Amino acid sequence: MSRFAPLAALVIAVVIFALDTLTTFDMAIAVLYVTVVLLSLSFAAKKGLLFIGVACMALTLLSFAVSHGENPTSDSFARCFVSLAAIGITTLLAYRVKTAIAVLGESEQRYRTIFLATGVAILEMDFTAVKAAIDRLKTNGFPDIRAAAKANPDFAREAIGMMKLTNVNNTTLTTFGAKDLDTFRTALPVLIGKEMEGSIWALLEAIWDVRTSYESETIMNDVDGNRIAILYNVAMPHDRPTLDMVLVSIMDVTARHEAENELHETHAELAHVTRVATLGELTVSIAHEVNQPLAAIVTNGGAGLRWLKRSEPDLDEVETSMQRMIADAGRASEVIKRLRALSSKTAPQSVPININDVIAETMMLVQREVMNQRVDLKLELAADLPPVSGDHIQLQQVIINLILNAVQAMSDPSVKTRQLLIQTAVGEGVIVAKIRDTGPGFAAEKSANLFDAFYTTKSNGMGMGLSICRSIIAAHGGRITANAEPGKGASFEFTIPFHEETAS
Ligand code: ADP
Repeated sequence: MSRFAPLAALVIAVVIFALDTLTTFDMAIAVLYVTVVLLSLSFAAKKGLLFIGVACMALTLLSFAVSHGENPTSDSFARCFVSLAAIGITTLLAYRVKTAIAVLGESEQRYRTIFLATGVAILEMDFTAVKAAIDRLKTNGFPDIRAAAKANPDFAREAIGMMKLTNVNNTTLTTFGAKDLDTFRTALPVLIGKEMEGSIWALLEAIWDVRTSYESETIMNDVDGNRIAILYNVAMPHDRPTLDMVLVSIMDVTARHEAENELHETHAELAHVTRVATLGELTVSIAHEVNQPLAAIVTNGGAGLRWLKRSEPDLDEVETSMQRMIADAGRASEVIKRLRALSSKTAPQSVPININDVIAETMMLVQREVMNQRVDLKLELAADLPPVSGDHIQLQQVIINLILNAVQAMSDPSVKTRQLLIQTAVGEGVIVAKIRDTGPGFAAEKSANLFDAFYTTKSNGMGMGLSICRSIIAAHGGRITANAEPGKGASFEFTIPFHEETAS
């Protein structure tokens, strides 16, 4: 059409000019030049359009001069004026349309460039059929998507089949390893695997609720069947009558996930190293805890032998001695068992735990350290503490760290009163544990820094203890805070939420 349009416009202009100049009809034939202007919209640029408009007006004036130049009547003047006005206005409007088209074209071009070149996978999709199916469910009286899911558990799969793919950008193809749009389109139902179905239900709920966007992290497959961790966003403009233009942007976060996992593993490794280092600090205490029952075994063994060697062996006493030996051996092996648990590398567990029990067990390991520093220990443990769900060893690590820090802080010769208070209480939905000492404390502005990794004021400190305490408590859904009155002591408090059902 546009190839012949310039020629057609020229022919029409010539015909109009001839009719206008050579005939004497009582009508404004020159008005027809507007067709030339409109026709030129399809081939002329903005400047060309203006030129054609002006040329048509010039031809109108030329015809007028030739046919009415000598004796112009008021009628012919009026007709000429109407024609000029019509051509002028049409040219102006055509010019504005052209400008609008150019702007639209530019923004379309910009969108295309972004669409094709961006590092994010973008899919243009048509959800019209999905929306219609959801509207039908609503008409059939389902109150929400959950009710619809109960009635038809396959609806999510069916909806995936209804999602029409219009276009994808190159990043989509590279992300999913598809060679072209058709391969991708055919593979799409397989790429949306079982693992993504939960997320699809949530997306359907977003469509049901007429939300304009939905975002989620999930797992998809690529064309070769590899799992990809993705973060995806679905933009659903509801200013259109149907959902025929839905933009789905997908970011491959597999590498990020792997890095996060690595970080997590490194952190766990570090927590383990710190735990072992802490145990190193406790060697003297631990040696004593194991030595004491061993010494008692020797003593009781000796006593038993003496009772046996008597001319009239007292078997009751021998029995008592042996029972004591068994109990002492049990105590020693209990300490060793705890130590092995603490120094072993096991994956965190989630079991019901009473913090009071953890504190009592921890005391067994740190008691000597506390005594050596002549620290006056006071326990105020709440009797009705509900259990929390968590990892025994990790929580024990937190309590050991806090107690050892307190004892170390008070070991400064300048500290006259050495009191360590360990309290537990029930707060609102949380258990609260507090460890307070009468050491030198720290400046208030330092209370946030203490928890930073590698922050230490000790010459042989690692600065990891509190950082690890914080991440352990955070992993249990709780918080840990530090408070101090410089010169009067420090207190560390952590909370861990408990669930009502585990509490009862
Ligand atoms: P480290 O014990 O290796 O220094 P932590 O992370 O356990 O590492 O502690 C960091 C810093 O917090 C300590 O060096 C100390 O300055 C401060 N701190 C911790 N506990 C106390 C406390 N009870 N009283 C005063 N300062 C403390």
